[in-house]
Amino acid sequence: KESWAMMFQRQHMDPDGPSSNSNYCNQMMRRQLMTERQCKPVNTFIHEPLVDVQAICLQGNIICKNGKPNCHKSSSSMKITDCRVKSSSEYPFCDYETSHKERHIIVVCGGNPYVPVHFHASV
Ligand code: C5P
Repeated sequence: KESWAMMFQRQHMDPDGPSSNSNYCNQMMRRQLMTERQCKPVNTFIHEPLVDVQAICLQGNIICKNGKPNCHKSSSSMKITDCRVKSSSEYPFCDYETSHKERHIIVVCGGNPYVPVHFHASV
């Protein structure tokens, strides 16, 4: 069974990317199985080494939007790609807008070892 930590890696980690094309999100959202039952509306891929993303769990502890205390904000900005489904997209033909950015990211950490289990936001 896929753990929350493995699911985080599947949905959000692309340390060697991005490939430099505007179809990035269309390809990656499908390849990483986020277009199976619906087109997942918003998803962020992180282009930094896994160890650096895991280290966020030891950085700035903040309150999450839902009031829980286990959100962590990266101390440095990170290379990310923001994928948003286009309003014209129609399942099963999921069509995404791809935008590459550098942002601080906020992840939810959990478990033992204490690692990222959800992507919360980029700021
Ligand atoms: O913010 P919301 O709860 O609607 O986000 C749902 C999911 O969308 C998150 O758990 C995360 O997987 C994804 N998301 C993301 N990048 C964002 C916002 C949401 O990957 N900037």
